[in-house]
Amino acid sequence: MRLVVGTNFDDKLIEEASRYPVKYLYGSHRATLTGHGRVSFVVPDVNDERLREHISLAHSKGIKFLYTMNSPSYGGLEYSDAFWNRLKAELEKLVNLGIDGVIVATPLLLEYVKKEHPELEVSISSFARISNIREVENYIELGADTVILHEDDNRKFDLLSSVVKLAKKRGVDVEVITNNSCLWGCAYRRHHDVETGELSRETAPKGVWFEYPLMFCATDVRNDFANLIRMRWIRPEDLHYYEEIGIDRFKIASRNKRTEWILRAIKAYSERKYEGNLLDIVSYPQGRATPYALTKLGAGQEYQVLTKVYVDNAKFPSKWLEFFKTNDCDTRPCSECKYCDVVAEKVISVDGKPLSEVKLPKIRAPVELIPRFISDGAAH
Ligand code: SF4
Repeated sequence: MRLVVGTNFDDKLIEEASRYPVKYLYGSHRATLTGHGRVSFVVPDVNDERLREHISLAHSKGIKFLYTMNSPSYGGLEYSDAFWNRLKAELEKLVNLGIDGVIVATPLLLEYVKKEHPELEVSISSFARISNIREVENYIELGADTVILHEDDNRKFDLLSSVVKLAKKRGVDVEVITNNSCLWGCAYRRHHDVETGELSRETAPKGVWFEYPLMFCATDVRNDFANLIRMRWIRPEDLHYYEEIGIDRFKIASRNKRTEWILRAIKAYSERKYEGNLLDIVSYPQGRATPYALTKLGAGQEYQVLTKVYVDNAKFPSKWLEFFKTNDCDTRPCSECKYCDVVAEKVISVDGKPLSEVKLPKIRAPVELIPRFISDGAAH
């Protein structure tokens, strides 16, 4: 097992994490030229010296560092020579700070990095939204060292097997994300990906303090808790299904988490077991960031219930994931299938009540609040 862990730049994390099979850390400065995979205001603000120290400590523990440049777009900045001159200087500086590689989401940056710094490892981010074998083939031909699959691929075992076979033949790594809580087949994802890129660039509007697309998926969970089961997280107990098809590289999404939270997730996945609320090792911004942001505006009382959800990891039927080996979720509507609904009834309780007793009126996302997620007087 090789864990790839999002860092919060706390050196204590490295000290503790090095006791587990953590082979890579990933992260970046808060606001960057290209943008990356987390809006700037949810990740720590580090300067070059802090980055250098953190990377050096990681190296002393045999852990590599990947710098995130995984925005799905560059805001049109790439039409200027200034962008490319900056990017060249940025990469030079980062190599001198000790990075081992980068995580990108476009062929444009993959090819550029490989031309300028062939010594750097390049991982293709889940933000590239790879969802078929031809995309994997393309990225391999363009020089990728690792492909991180779209979370929505996590229960497509036929696709995963073919991707692993192809990648292995070409000496390329395949990585899956274990603990992201994006909706299965999320309609908001493309928009949120682009928003994340916009809000992690130096050019982002100042003063934004909440990424509103999280209101949409939180609303869908609030309106149908079975969405929590449809999400493509991977339970520690189910890692063996991936290892059996040749995947041993597992990403833990944790750049915006506290050290004890990250260590809890690392321990659970390293030991392939977790007793408790699965949401304590899964990112779940729907039940954290969203209720918090709405409360800050004195709104969203209906979302507070999301903070009282318990997904009892011990109650999953041992072979529950095997259903996905034969069920094609790409062609079968959830409204007809209802498998995840059945599992949800077994494992989810809300405010101490079994799901079958939770009857809540449907709500819609309060989009009229969007202009209030930027601090007053912030220039934009
Ligand atoms: S199709 Fe069935 S198994 Fe697949 S996500 Fe929907 S409810 Fe779950």
